Amino acid sequence: MKSTPQLELININKRFGSAVTADNFSLTIEQGEFFTFLGPSGSGKSTILRMVAGLEQPDSGSIRYGGRDLAGVPPWKRDLGMMFQQYALFPHMTVAQNVAYGLKAHRMPTDAQRTRVKQMLELIGMSGKADKNATLLSGGEQQRVALARALAPAPDMLLLDEPLSALDEKIRREMQLELKHIQRRTGTTFFYVTHDQEEALTMSDRVAVLNGGRCVQCDAPERIFTRPRTRFVAHFFRGCN
Ligand code: ADP
Ligand code: MG
Repeated sequence: MKSTPQLELININKRFGSAVTADNFSLTIEQGEFFTFLGPSGSGKSTILRMVAGLEQPDSGSIRYGGRDLAGVPPWKRDLGMMFQQYALFPHMTVAQNVAYGLKAHRMPTDAQRTRVKQMLELIGMSGKADKNATLLSGGEQQRVALARALAPAPDMLLLDEPLSALDEKIRREMQLELKHIQRRTGTTFFYVTHDQEEALTMSDRVAVLNGGRCVQCDAPERIFTRPRTRFVAHFFRGCN
């Protein structure tokens, strides 16, 4: 028996003037998947993710999440977590205060907040830095805290738009493993965006290769790599070595 997909995009269209960011785009993501959009700059990855988040509206088509149509549902009522490259921490707050931020908004009682923050800091291996000011952290640490903050309210799905692209190579590779590990451990669905082929291929259960607001190929990473369906996909991958 097939369960309802967690997220369904159905015939989404979206353009900004002549830039087509979603061209009759359809997609389903299952509960617990690590699903990745991979594509060159300008292919529509961020815009589609932002429509799921409710930060942009489709020109036409529908988005269903947990079987519910999201049309007209504001971002804060979508039960989605978000983490972006630029999603900076609140600089005047400590690590623990940053992680607690979303819990306060959900009106969680203070004791429960404290327990949850402790759990999240353990999850990201930063228990010793709870009271440190956010601005004193390294780039990798800041993104770890941003991850903990996004996961603290236990969203069913986390949207991640190039969360590691500002980090240098070594830290980025470490964080890839850590993100994957945390995704598995928490069972959260990850809807991930990257233009880094290696990142997509090593982390994901499925990858959708985007070009011009269309999905060129959506498959398990090894199939995308070994059986590219179009010349665009093949060339895009050749470019990564
Ligand atoms: P990606 O994340 O794959 O790099 P984007 O979704 O950010 O792609 O952008 C796709 C195209 O849509 C680009 O040509 C971009 O310039 C255009 N675009 C995105 N957002 C806007 C906007 N708010 N206003 C005008 N054009 C936009
Ligand atoms: Mg983008």
